Amino acid sequence: MRMGKKYRKKLPVRPPKKIPSIFPCPNCGKKAVKVFYDRGEGEAVVSCGNCKIYVKIKVPPIFSAVDIYGRFVDLFYEGKVETGSGTVENAQNRQS
Ligand SMILES: [Zn+2]
Repeated sequence: MRMGKKYRKKLPVRPPKKIPSIFPCPNCGKKAVKVFYDRGEGEAVVSCGNCKIYVKIKVPPIFSAVDIYGRFVDLFYEGKVETGSGTVENAQNRQS
């Protein structure tokens, strides 16, 4: 009779992954959003390398890049993130 053998399949030991700091952009859809976090300042900068969206967020020190990104997305959908130049197209009347 088998008594639960202490025989485990060896699980591949994964090296501790660095939390990715590049996220998909809610504005342009590209995976080009980077999170820079200055713990000293308690301030994070989130910017997109594609559409140049840029925002500074005050964040508590316990926040990780993912949390900051989540905050950024929230703010974006609340319309509190300025999308900067080039995203809002002014209707250009090119009538001649
Ligand atoms: Zn973008």
